[in-house]
Amino acid sequence: MNKKIAVIAGDGIGPEIVAQARKVLDGVCEKYGHTFTYTDVLMGGCSIDAYGVPLTDETIEICKASDAVLMGSIGGNAATSPWYKLAPELRPEAGLLKLRKSLNLYCNLRPAYLFKELADSCPLAAKEGGRNFDLVICRELTGGLYFGERYTKVKDGVITAVDTAVYNENEIRRIAVKAFEIAMKRGKKVCSVDKANVLDTSRLWRKVVADVAKDYPEVELSNMLVDNCAMQLVKEPEQFDVIVTGNMFGDILSDEASMITGSIGMLSSASLSDGSFGLYEPSHGSAPDIAGLGIANPIATILSAAMMLHYSFGLLKEADAVEAAVKQTLADGYRSIDLMSRTGAEGLISQNCSELGDRICERI
Ligand code: NAD
Repeated sequence: MNKKIAVIAGDGIGPEIVAQARKVLDGVCEKYGHTFTYTDVLMGGCSIDAYGVPLTDETIEICKASDAVLMGSIGGNAATSPWYKLAPELRPEAGLLKLRKSLNLYCNLRPAYLFKELADSCPLAAKEGGRNFDLVICRELTGGLYFGERYTKVKDGVITAVDTAVYNENEIRRIAVKAFEIAMKRGKKVCSVDKANVLDTSRLWRKVVADVAKDYPEVELSNMLVDNCAMQLVKEPEQFDVIVTGNMFGDILSDEASMITGSIGMLSSASLSDGSFGLYEPSHGSAPDIAGLGIANPIATILSAAMMLHYSFGLLKEADAVEAAVKQTLADGYRSIDLMSRTGAEGLISQNCSELGDRICERI
């Protein structure tokens, strides 16, 4: 199979972790006889440095002409980086929001499951029979509070900031359909998360999701308020299969879900459009505090590349091979620093970013 992949390495640890994911994809090509052609493009802080804007039309066009996009992460330290002295629409994150909108990436999937090998890294209280959760957060990505009208102005002599949350029924329907389709291939349970006791957007959300559920009688639908969901994720994550939620709630809950897997460095993500096109990136940010040290955990990016093989290229066997290689690497005791056991490092072998990439490649 021949595929074109646009690569946005980005800022901070982005280039270090993307290099490992490419290494793994090259290993897949070698073993299974595929050809992936990569085109490197800039986005985020590195694009500001080169072109004065976080996202150029050329980057958008190259992404659109590709079969999928592999991304590291963008952004810097907001307190010290000159990028954050620019107007909000010229900052690194504005590039990412514009790219999501331009590529119509409305469905963000973030799986969170506990590798049995990392059980010691899970910060949750032990449970009889052990912790064993496997859930997917299906987050709406191109609407809601992050895309509504916003401004800051002086009103009656007081500086006042306004952000607007907007959802229409079509935006809710298409993400709900994705969530139910995914649930049909998993545990057949959807939990819709909102704040329907307060927000109008949430009340519409709940109504539309209930309507979509009628087309999926095999799937069990439940509704949960976001504050309760935040609590349930750390109390009993085993109860969830697919969580479908709006943009801001999904942003926060998916970071919480990543932490219960042991480290934010483990959580992959896929942002999907209609059809097979998607952008694949780790759920974490550019980690400016450890950038350049070579100690970042590349697993979230490698697992994101596995999601690309699965969702955009339909290469299920190859995607499984990458996941199995990650699992075997962990089973053999190899760890990045963030994964060194909370209860002791006996028998574990510390690896830098590139070494861990090599160990995973060897096991494909
Ligand atoms: P972060 O996710 O970058 O880092 C949070 C903490 O987790 C840090 O201590 C970091 O060292 C650690 N961490 C993150 N990824 C790791 C990895 N792979 N291996 C080991 N440790 C890891 O979040 P932040 O510090 O709040 O944000 C830093 C920058 O990233 C900001 O500019 C933010 O806007 C940006 N950001 C970008 C994206 C994206 O590109 N999609 C997402 C989130 C944040």
